[in-house]
Amino acid sequence: MNTIKSITHVVFIKDVAKTDLFEKISKSITSASYIETDEDKLSEVLKRLKKEKIMSKKVLVVHKFKGRLIQICPGSKGMICCNYMLINTGFNCLYDCSYCFLLGYLNSYGVLIFANINDICREIDEFIKNDNGQTIFRIGTGEFTDSLMIDEFTGLSEKLIGQFSSYKKYFLEIKTKSSNVDHILNIKNKGNTVISWSLNTERNIDKYEQGTAQLKDRINSAIKAYESGYWVSFHFDPIILYNDWEKDYGDLLNMLMSAIPVEKILWISMGGLRFTNEFREILREKNINEDLTLDEFTESTDGKIRYFKPIRMDIYRMFRDYFTKMKTSPFIYMCMESSDMWEAIFGKNYDSSSDLENDFKKYLVEKCHI
Ligand code: SF4
Repeated sequence: MNTIKSITHVVFIKDVAKTDLFEKISKSITSASYIETDEDKLSEVLKRLKKEKIMSKKVLVVHKFKGRLIQICPGSKGMICCNYMLINTGFNCLYDCSYCFLLGYLNSYGVLIFANINDICREIDEFIKNDNGQTIFRIGTGEFTDSLMIDEFTGLSEKLIGQFSSYKKYFLEIKTKSSNVDHILNIKNKGNTVISWSLNTERNIDKYEQGTAQLKDRINSAIKAYESGYWVSFHFDPIILYNDWEKDYGDLLNMLMSAIPVEKILWISMGGLRFTNEFREILREKNINEDLTLDEFTESTDGKIRYFKPIRMDIYRMFRDYFTKMKTSPFIYMCMESSDMWEAIFGKNYDSSSDLENDFKKYLVEKCHI
């Protein structure tokens, strides 16, 4: 698994040099070259490193983020979304997933982490003050980066867990493909924090998720997390098909469920591989696992390329049937699927994302007695 030790260059903006985060980083990455710069010269520095063929994932960029630190998931046009809230803590990560949608962003180079952790915490405090623990919501840090890749140095998860822990209605989700949980196991008050893993078959992890933790290590860390008192959840996303996919995903589910008691799993999400046309071109240009996009696909109403609908139905039915035959089932949902698909798979007549959000809330009220 790639760790902070894989970093060879740290680029930082002058005004972060005195932050706690930067101090911790400079103590832990001692062998890298440090490059100090101004915000307006940052892109020049990154261009130069790129020209020198320094790999993007070996460059850590520490700066202050001036945009929105908390936002609602933008979703995808015409698709049902769960109205998840995102906390922006960084952009890109140490791992190298061939399907990573961040590859599609212009000028995406380097692993960016935001040093203004205090601003993030202040915004969250403000939010909590206004809401006063009244609204049920799910909020998480792992949308544009991996929540735990260097968390033992940033200490961010510990801070966030502390902020949310007194409120039963707030579900903080910490999402990862790492096995890096030891530093958060002993936190006393965990509230309704959920540690979640993105899972895939061993074949897909080996082929498309370079630098991430092996499947058995992710599951072992999930065992540690639930045993220490966290909720856990799992995301089967993206599900990538190949000849033996059904057997392999079935084996993966068996492996998971023999390791984790179902009542400790709060939710399960599933999503078939999807990408934009431009993304396919980027993969071709970069020559990255081009076979990823060579299956038979169709374009959906939101402009994304997906497996054909009957194939997606087979995938989702397989997962649904696996969990619904259990005595208690976690909340299972599809990420970015149409209302037709919700009708076909779950018999739900969702007109909008709020319908899914409301069902999700009802489930959480019952399951967590809030
Ligand atoms: S872990 Fe997530 S952010 Fe990191 S490369 Fe993979 S898909 Fe992208």
